[in-house]
Amino acid sequence: MSQQFDLVVIGGGPGGYEAAIRAAQLGFKVACIEKRVHKGKPSLGGTCLNVGCIPSKALLDSSHHYEDTIHHLGDHGITTGEVNIDIAKMLARKDKVVENLTGGVAQLLKGNGIEWLQGTGKLLAGKKVEFVPFEGETQVLEPKYVILASGSVPVNIPVAPVDQDLIVDSTGALEFAEVPKRLGVIGAGVIGLELGSVWRRLGSEVVVFEALDAFLPMADKALSKEFQKILTKQGLDIRIGAKVSGTEVNGREVTVKYNQAGEDKEQVFDKLIVCVGRKPYAEGLLAEDAGIKLTDRGFIEVNDHCATSLEGVYAIGDLVRGPMLAHKAMEEGVMAVERIHGHAAQVNYDTIISVIYTHPEAAWVGLTEEQAVANGHEVKTGQFPFAVNGRALAAGEAAGFVKFVADAKTDRLLGMHVIGPGASDIVHQGMIALEFVSSVEDLQLMTFGHPTYSEVVHEAALAVDGRAIHAIQRKRK
Ligand code: FAD
Ligand code: NAD
Repeated sequence: MSQQFDLVVIGGGPGGYEAAIRAAQLGFKVACIEKRVHKGKPSLGGTCLNVGCIPSKALLDSSHHYEDTIHHLGDHGITTGEVNIDIAKMLARKDKVVENLTGGVAQLLKGNGIEWLQGTGKLLAGKKVEFVPFEGETQVLEPKYVILASGSVPVNIPVAPVDQDLIVDSTGALEFAEVPKRLGVIGAGVIGLELGSVWRRLGSEVVVFEALDAFLPMADKALSKEFQKILTKQGLDIRIGAKVSGTEVNGREVTVKYNQAGEDKEQVFDKLIVCVGRKPYAEGLLAEDAGIKLTDRGFIEVNDHCATSLEGVYAIGDLVRGPMLAHKAMEEGVMAVERIHGHAAQVNYDTIISVIYTHPEAAWVGLTEEQAVANGHEVKTGQFPFAVNGRALAAGEAAGFVKFVADAKTDRLLGMHVIGPGASDIVHQGMIALEFVSSVEDLQLMTFGHPTYSEVVHEAALAVDGRAIHAIQRKRK
């Protein structure tokens, strides 16, 4: 390694690899250190591509096809023979998708002239970086800039120690060799709902234990209420206010002990997924004298532009404050590099979308009605269901709604909340509107294509002022 690098990125997840690519585009000489070995091979793409966003969505799609074939094709007059699922093939397909994408990132780095250093990186004093390769000698690099992007790992709880056999985390839950008959899930968060849905669709009886007394408390109340109803109807047994006090493994079974409404209970499962959140991962990343400040929760302390306490060193993604989302990590990586290059780039943290990829999907951007009120806005809202949308009815996708939250005095749009077909894409209309500081009237005045799911967006905007066409609205403006 005689080369001198302008920038060394530690971590090749979505945050790190996008930062590396943008830096190469801007003319920097870049190295990206990544230590992940996935299924026996060094692999780029981080949690997201290897064991997160992508494999979970592959399984969500496979399991959706299975459920749809059994329960909904008949509605279209289509009859099939006996429907079976080959779990090994489904997992192999997921692995292939992962392999394609992680291989693609390796190609992108190569094509951009970025050196992928396979092994472990550590920030030393004086902004130097120690690189311990999988093979060969340790080297010390002296780049002008460093980006720390080492991501996050699942939170463990002592009452349910993960053994990746009977008690698994999200990574183990992507690899069940057969459908567990009885599946327990601790945590009714994003992972619990997505992976719980995968295995329920394939035939598991799923019980989800949520310690808090509310379901998805960060979401708009109208959304969380409707979403809980829909998921429960689908067969997810969501137990709110259920505090797990212990687990016991007996042979091939695991007993979950929990307390709900003051009553001690227990239930036996074939598998248990623990998904109670993730925590920043900085193990071995920083020498004691590296000069980087951590928060009391283990995140690296950064300013709004992801600069750390040490000049020339940035930290991004799950390793720093804010939502643990791939798109947030990516934009921070690009912003950090652009800042290094002297551009006044920034991330608008107010318009980062949230999505839960169940079926129907749930997605939102901006403020919930409750947050808007708490922030002192005089609030007006409009909500419109997919149940009277022609496209949704034609497709048999009539569950859910679009809701807008707006400021009653200024008409400024504050938030959008969607449950329904393609919510993950539809919500981007709200994101763009928020970015452009749109009023509700802006949306009302636009012509939406017919017949589309997006017409519900238009109707919800009209509903804010009692003007939805396909509803009998009492309040009018
Ligand atoms: P990571 O992706 O965690 O990448 C960090 C990389 O750094 C890792 O590969 C690690 O091996 C490497 N590393 C760590 N320390 C070192 C070191 N010292 N030297 C070298 N390399 C090191 N987010 C979404 O937006 N949408 C989704 O649908 C979604 N689904 C998810 C599903 C699951 C099951 C999980 C677990 C997560 C999901 N997420 C999703 C979250 C998303 O995966 C993360 O927010 C995202 O991966 C964070 O990116 P990152 O670059 O900060 O870190
Ligand atoms: P989460 O924070 O979304 O949900 C964890 C849930 O577990 C919460 O509802 C919490 O109240 C509950 N909980 C915590 N401790 C508990 C306990 N002891 N007993 C019972 N319940 C308990 O975390 P997650 O689902 O593990 O996901 C981790 C991260 O990964 C999230 O931050 C999320 O942003 C990201 N992720 C995103 C997506 C997506 O964007 N679609 C998908 C998967 C994961």
